[in-house]
Amino acid sequence: MTTLDAAPAVVREHSPVDGEPCVLLKLGEVVLKGKNRELFERRLADNVRQAVRPIARVDVIRRHGVFIVRTKDATAELVDRLAARISDVMGIVWCHRAWRVGKDVESVEKAALELMDGRTGSFAVRSRRRDKRFPLTSTELDRLVGGRIADRYGLPVRLKDPDHTVSIEVDRDEVFVFSGGLPGQGGLPVGMSGRALVLMSGGIDSPVAAYRMMRRGLRVDYLHFSGMPFTGPESIYKAYALVRELDKFQGGSRLFVVPFGKAQQQIKSSGADRLAVIAQRRLMLRTGEVLARRLRGSALITGDALGQVSSQTLTNITALDDAVELPILRPLVGMDKIEIMDQARRVRTLSISELPDEDCCTMLAPRRAETKAKIDDLRQIEKRLDAADLADQLADSVQEHRPVYGSA
Ligand code: ATP
Ligand code: MG
Repeated sequence: MTTLDAAPAVVREHSPVDGEPCVLLKLGEVVLKGKNRELFERRLADNVRQAVRPIARVDVIRRHGVFIVRTKDATAELVDRLAARISDVMGIVWCHRAWRVGKDVESVEKAALELMDGRTGSFAVRSRRRDKRFPLTSTELDRLVGGRIADRYGLPVRLKDPDHTVSIEVDRDEVFVFSGGLPGQGGLPVGMSGRALVLMSGGIDSPVAAYRMMRRGLRVDYLHFSGMPFTGPESIYKAYALVRELDKFQGGSRLFVVPFGKAQQQIKSSGADRLAVIAQRRLMLRTGEVLARRLRGSALITGDALGQVSSQTLTNITALDDAVELPILRPLVGMDKIEIMDQARRVRTLSISELPDEDCCTMLAPRRAETKAKIDDLRQIEKRLDAADLADQLADSVQEHRPVYGSA
């Protein structure tokens, strides 16, 4: 076998000649961000390092459109764990467990043969060169390595829809060889778009809303209203479990809990009647606004979807927007329940949301809810309640929790 290139500097570090397992990350939109790209990549690299900290200390090496995640004494098993964890970090499109080998054809072949060992079915080899100085073209490399695999294992090459694809990527200092991979979340790195506060019930929708906004680069805090002292703590446990699951997408999540029962009673005795549900949603938003400002958040996020329940008609959504100055982001506004549930299943919050609890809202539900809430009527009710003061008091009464992904 001919060695086509001298062993590059990088091989001297701590990789054996056979290659070192590492994680190769393909970045999504980050690549498109022009001048901001540097900022995006730095944020993403930080987020990746943070996410895997409980597993291993890693180096994140930035290359054109890809990241390489390396760790000392990497084994295939350790790198698989890293790849699985990193696939939850926003801003990544693909996570590949790859062999990182020297820039000689022999090492590439060896890694490719190892990857295909024990596999059955058809295969294809696909090479690309990020370093065009490599002496073989992509097609030559495909043919050479493909031929070796076919000879060794007797497997058929199929270029269209193969059962296995062996990818070879020639980089500046090394070559990456991998097969398959985990799809990432896509989107933008958390923290790139600022900070916002999610109004988090124990339901199906608000966790999905949180996920979608984290994926657009927002770092989020969570606010939950419990019916305490008139309900049990079950809804708090649910909110806690939901935030702990969602924490895998950003890390360092904070959950603020407000005992809301007494305020609900006040709304009820204020004669709000059919407007009680909207009045209470407005009070939640106002409380959220006070808290968001303290946390330097610049938006509120809710799980509203147009028309899903009677409080979510266009008139009522307008009446909710009127309660606060901060923008209310509603990423689910145009989604239907089936789509939302599919997404909840994928982010693994659905089974938690489906646990029984005593929703704080049931206590207020009038026989017929208002679908065309008049803003003037709501303002009257709020005057009687002294809602601005009440929102301040409620924001003062929050309890802070720190649900950490993977903790008991
Ligand atoms: P979800 O599934 O998120 O509970 P939903 O379809 O049940 O939503 P509503 O109960 O009308 O709809 O709530 C709409 C939104 O109001 C929720 O998505 C959430 O953002 C907010 N919200 C409702 N109840 C609470 C609560 N107890 N604590 C915090 N936010 C809440
Ligand atoms: Mg709900």
